[in-house]
Amino acid sequence: MSRIVVNPSLCDRCGECVAACPFGALSLRNDTVDVSDQCRLCLVCTRRCPRGAILLVKEKADGAGVSDVRTGVTGMRSGANKVEVLRDSARGIMVFAEYHGGRFEPVTYELIGKALELAGKVGDNVVCVAAGESVLEPARELLHYGVDKVLVYDAPELRYFVAPAYTEILEDAIRRVKPGVLLIGATPLGRSLAPRVAVRFRTGLTADCTILDIRPDGELVQTRPAFGGNIMATIVTRETRPQMATVRYKVMKRAERRPVPSGDLEEVTLSGSPGGTLARIREHLNRIKVISDSPLPKTESIADAEVIVAVGRGVRSDKDLPMFERLAERLGGVLACSRPLVEKGWFPASRQVGLSGRTVRPKLYIACGISGAIQHAAGMSESEVIIAINQDRNAQIFDVAHYGIVGDMYEIVPELLRLFSA
Ligand SMILES: Cc1cc2nc3c(=O)[nH]c(=O)nc-3n(C[C@H](O)[C@H](O)[C@H](O)COP(=O)(O)OP(=O)(O)OC[C@H]3O[C@@H](n4cnc5c(N)ncnc54)[C@H](O)[C@@H]3O)c2cc1C
Repeated sequence: MSRIVVNPSLCDRCGECVAACPFGALSLRNDTVDVSDQCRLCLVCTRRCPRGAILLVKEKADGAGVSDVRTGVTGMRSGANKVEVLRDSARGIMVFAEYHGGRFEPVTYELIGKALELAGKVGDNVVCVAAGESVLEPARELLHYGVDKVLVYDAPELRYFVAPAYTEILEDAIRRVKPGVLLIGATPLGRSLAPRVAVRFRTGLTADCTILDIRPDGELVQTRPAFGGNIMATIVTRETRPQMATVRYKVMKRAERRPVPSGDLEEVTLSGSPGGTLARIREHLNRIKVISDSPLPKTESIADAEVIVAVGRGVRSDKDLPMFERLAERLGGVLACSRPLVEKGWFPASRQVGLSGRTVRPKLYIACGISGAIQHAAGMSESEVIIAINQDRNAQIFDVAHYGIVGDMYEIVPELLRLFSA
């Protein structure tokens, strides 16, 4: 059981905690502050108290209290269940470089591109964190992308992605660097890792950001669609650090590779001392059993395609799909779809473009019988050239299309096939 306690000898009854408590759980008493059962342990008061008089106390089973302790590490605060990077000492942008299967996830280079842009605006550094087994040599490649430093954790214990173990790595990296911002790819692995790290630091995390910007004071402005894509929400993490965001593949522009590497590579050797990071990682690994480690069969991702022919509810029957498949093949591309066709069971979810599907940025996107709802456009509007075929001249898809063909696609697509085979 955890509870909040106020140390009366430190409390000067300034009332800041009472004003800050979002649950109205605190009130001033004669000599100190009362904490009512409305308290939800959100810890806003512990952070707001200028005298450090409010602590989270974790009780042991025998009822004895273990109080929140502050470490001597500059810029860090830690205690029962939490580690904190202090706002004023946090600087720089950290990118988690996701490594597996012998390569860095392509989203890594896009995160670096965005991190360099943000860092350039406020004069900060960019640090990449690479973790895995035998990652040291591959990590040198990251130095070709303009980052200031690559922090490498190369250990056999990191062979498999075990989320709690990788959380320990990121905690260690954050403790060392104390970044103001941490960017992670919104991959299946990143989506599992980011919330764990955010909880560890009791900090804010904005998932699936589509726009990131930074204010001169280092405050990260995180924008993402909300309420089913009907509004764009702008989110800032005012109090806590690092400010964490995940970003999907193909949303940000990739950093350019430079022929000459720059920046430093630092290999972190984790000590195996009891209670240390490596010991904790080993404890996590002891709880899992690897029963097979053969790689999953590679599935073709629509996110990597240079040409996409996408079909929507304008398709009358799944028997008509081969016609669109032929068009995609003829152009050296792949067939994708809008959400209703996944719901009908005509396509797997991996083929869906949009807010709840994949984000794509191909050279050519041909939308056939797709109305262009905001949730669909969110996943394809950054394509280089968009051609829309729709019989409704007022369809929203024409707002994002570079070229529009108004008409029946059952006449237009066969005509295109004839043209392309000529
Ligand atoms: C939270 C949330 C998340 C969502 N996520 C996604 C997502 O990721 N991806 C997605 O696609 N949708 C998503 N949607 C659904 C989205 O709102 C739309 O309902 C969907 O995109 C519509 O698909 P559509 O354009 O294929 O169908 P419709 O809106 O029904 O459009 C069909 C179009 O086909 C045209 N048409 C019909 N016949 C022909 C013809 N013969 N020739 C030419 N044109 C023809 C019509 O004029 C019409 O414009 C989401 C919705 C919500 C609420």
